Amino acid sequence: MHLASESITPRSIAIVGAGQAGLLLGCALLDKGYAVTMVTNRSAEDIWNGKVMSSQFIFDPALQIERDLGLDQWEKDCPYTEGIGFSIPAPDGSGTQALHWHARLHAPGQSVDQRVKMPGWMAEFVRRGGDLRFEDVGVAELETLTAAHELVLLAGGKGDIVNLLGRDDSRSPVRQPMRQLALTYVTGMKRHDYYECVNFNLIPGVGEYFVFPALTTHGASSTQACDIMVFEGVPGGPMDCWGDARSPEQHLETSLNILKTFAPWEYERSRDCQLTDANGTLAGRITPMVRNAVLTLPSGRKVFGMGDAVLVNDPITGQGSNNATKGAKHYYDAILARGAGAFDEAWMRQTFDALYNGYAEKVVRWTNSLLFPPPDYIVKLLATAQHAPALASRIANGFNDPRDYADYWFDAADAERLMQREMEAVAA
Ligand SMILES: Cc1cc2nc3c(=O)[nH]c(=O)nc-3n(C[C@H](O)[C@H](O)[C@H](O)COP(=O)(O)OP(=O)(O)OC[C@H]3O[C@@H](n4cnc5c(N)ncnc54)[C@H](O)[C@@H]3O)c2cc1C
Repeated sequence: MHLASESITPRSIAIVGAGQAGLLLGCALLDKGYAVTMVTNRSAEDIWNGKVMSSQFIFDPALQIERDLGLDQWEKDCPYTEGIGFSIPAPDGSGTQALHWHARLHAPGQSVDQRVKMPGWMAEFVRRGGDLRFEDVGVAELETLTAAHELVLLAGGKGDIVNLLGRDDSRSPVRQPMRQLALTYVTGMKRHDYYECVNFNLIPGVGEYFVFPALTTHGASSTQACDIMVFEGVPGGPMDCWGDARSPEQHLETSLNILKTFAPWEYERSRDCQLTDANGTLAGRITPMVRNAVLTLPSGRKVFGMGDAVLVNDPITGQGSNNATKGAKHYYDAILARGAGAFDEAWMRQTFDALYNGYAEKVVRWTNSLLFPPPDYIVKLLATAQHAPALASRIANGFNDPRDYADYWFDAADAERLMQREMEAVAA
């Protein structure tokens, strides 16, 4: 493998957007001797003092990438989440769980508030010798960057600029937001009597509620443990109600009212919660989309998209930051493997297609499937898991690498075969 440091002058790479994807790739390339310029439109202070942006839960395989690249500086402070819990309320409105199981992840996951992580990684990027600049990048700035660098990556997340890439219609079957999203960052939640889980509550016709521990900001410079409530309301339904919440306090009140009505077991442990801070709330919608990986500028020069800029999923499966991490690692390997070769359009397309066909397509398919009412065989599968711990474990651990769902999630006969096998194992 050729390293940049073997050349006389290091290869120069520019990345637009200092988020999960851009900073991870930038820091990794600096360690291999590349000259990396990062251009982003928000300062570390703005991010730390701004609103929460995500629930950013990261499963172990992506955490391991961060560890391998020396980007795990919050691991010892951030609570570990060791499993996945799953509940469906009883349809009779009794406020009980018709279905509940929990299963351990093979290794725990973590969520470090991006308000903590991105400022920390920006400092790390500069410490490793990166050139960090603040600018709102548009077409003119992309032209300047592509004229001066051998490769320009667009990792602008949900910034308007990523729309220049254009939707890849063939890979984007969902064309509108399927959930009204809301986040509520809280302290004071009571622990339940099993290990820490991402507790996923599926409320038919209403939406989903999931909740897990995390590490967030505390004042100007320290951190604290918290819990993140994530609401995914079906548009027009009773969980699509955030427009009336005019203040952070009303947002918390709305959150608790939803729990009281639809998931009273969650309400019981949340009733005394407080917001972490006045910026610990968010409401919005996302249109899931796969974009074209390559942007051709008016000059003809090319820009290569990465992270959410090319793969934006509904957060229902908590895969966005995981995808961004795995995608950044994939691009990193491809850049190193390219040696002194040109980062031309063919290389860009080949690099993205390998990521998409080898991994991301399965994540997109599974995530999109959860945005629609589940077919009967999926309900049966989830119910069977309550009596078959190995099945519960398999479903839970699919979050680590959703390619596993391809074996049984999308076809009733495949799911039946798996259920039968697992129930036979239980009976044996
Ligand atoms: C409500 C919600 C909950 C989520 N929960 C999870 C979860 O639990 N687990 C999970 O894995 N994922 C989750 N995600 C998704 C996850 O947050 C994203 O997938 C991830 O942050 C994408 O990383 P990125 O680097 O591509 O973009 P980002 O992290 O968004 O970074 C983009 C960067 O580009 C900068 N930028 C934008 N425009 C410009 C411009 N014109 N010029 C310069 N800079 C620019 C931005 O300031 C930012 O720094 C969630 C998302 C939402 C909305």
